[in-house]
Parts: sequence; C-alpha cells; structure tokens
Amino acid sequence: MAWFTRQKPGVEGAAENEERRVRTEGLWLKCESCSQIVWKKALDENLQCCPKCNHHFRIDARARLAMLFDGEYREFDAGLVSTDPLMFRDSKQYTERLASTRSATRLSDALIAASGTLERRPVHICAMELKFIGGSMGAVVGEKITRTIERAMEDRAPLIIISATGGARMQEGAVSLMEMAKISATLMRLDEAKVPYISVLTDPTTGGVTASFAMLGDLNIAEPGALIGFAGPRVIEQTIRQKLPDGFQRSEFLLEHGFLDAVVKRTEMKSYIARALRFFCD
Ligand SMILES: [Zn+2]
Repeated sequence: MAWFTRQKPGVEGAAENEERRVRTEGLWLKCESCSQIVWKKALDENLQCCPKCNHHFRIDARARLAMLFDGEYREFDAGLVSTDPLMFRDSKQYTERLASTRSATRLSDALIAASGTLERRPVHICAMELKFIGGSMGAVVGEKITRTIERAMEDRAPLIIISATGGARMQEGAVSLMEMAKISATLMRLDEAKVPYISVLTDPTTGGVTASFAMLGDLNIAEPGALIGFAGPRVIEQTIRQKLPDGFQRSEFLLEHGFLDAVVKRTEMKSYIARALRFFCD
C-alpha cells in the first residue's frame, strides 16, 4: 500500500507540526478577516488588531494581563489543578489531556488569577485561556474565580474578569455546572459589599460562562466582532425553526439589543476600564 499511504517522509522532510510553524513564521501575515497582507510588527504594536480592518485577533491570557496591568502583577493559585472526578474518557483519558495541555500551555488550568494596578488603582483580574481545553470552566476555573472575588471583597479592590471560553468543561460534567451557581452566589456578595465588577467578553464567550458570571458585571463590555452566546446558531435554528439574522451573536448585534453595555476596541480597553472605575469608586 506504499503508493497509497506515504510511508517515508516526503519532500518537505519529516515535517512535524513544529517545523511547519517555524517555516511560516515570517514578517508578514494574511488577515483572516480582510485578507490583506499585514506586517506582523504593525500587528504587535496595535495589540493584535488588524491595522487595515480592525479585526481583533485572539490573544492569550498572559497578553491580556500585560495589556491591562501597569507593570508587574502577582499571580494567585497558580498551582491549583483539576482532579478527574468522573474518571472521564473521550478520545483520550481526561487526566492525560490535562497533563499534555498543561505542558503545552505552561498553565495549570484555563484561567490566570492576578492582582496589580490598572492606571495606579489596585485591581484583581482573572483572564481565561482559550488554548487550555477551549477555555472551558471546570472546578479549578470556578474555584480560582471564587477565591479572586473573595480577595476583591477583602481588599475592596475592583474585579475584572476577561472571558474567552467555550463554556463549562464537559469532562467534569455536573461538577463544572456547579461552578456557575457558586460564582454567581459569590458575585452577589461582592455586589452587596459594593465592590465593582467589570466583565470583559472576548471572542468567543459561550455556554455556561455566558449563562453565569460573564453577564453579571456591573458593566458588561465586549471586544468588537466577538462571538457571544449560549448555544450555537445551528442548535437555535433547529429549535425555533427560524432563520437567524446576520451577525447574530456578535458584539455589535448584542449591544444593539441591550445585552451589552458597550463594545470597546482593544486599544482603548485599558483607558475605558480606568474611566469606568473612576466613575464607580471615586
Ligand atoms: Zn484585516
């Protein structure tokens, strides 16, 4: 069957994914939205927003924190790891999936909890990491957020949560769904303590996260063009038997229909949050 399945490496050599990535790492890249060729450095300087069409590329949790904090920040609960309560197995064992994702992302789970200053005001920020099993919320994400809310209450410092997620983590089943209630209840206490919470929704924010803390901010703001919703459009269309409008589940549509308070460009995000916090706190 040698003519059918390639047994020896082809002309491209033993092209493993890694090697291929190195080869495409040039100075230019094609924008996935406007298809124009963009200089990578210009993209870096513009916080990964296309200088031509303002398309917001996805960025990771560390980049988010670096973008909002003034400088150094302190990370919390970095060693918290998930157990495998259901002994879940899909295409591979959940524990194996966790271990390989952990080494690939160098994160313990899909969220970084940190504190520092934003325009010299002490704040707590949680940033979700989409690359860690789709940014899914399991027991660790839930516990880290809950602890951050409690710290915010104790310090009376505002809380900011940046969501980037596919929703609850199916490998943890009901355990991950419990986190929705736990976080919501703790946010209620934060509200009673009159400490502000700003929710930042980025592309994508869906499922159990949208159905809980992402929509519970004193301000719910989103980046332009972000996919935000609970179920996917196909499921909804099949359920209600209607064609959905264009741009449905995008930030701009949700703003127009009263689900969001604002759509804020990434380059203006920090100053927008600082201004909002001055309004809330001073
Ligand atoms: Zn573009």
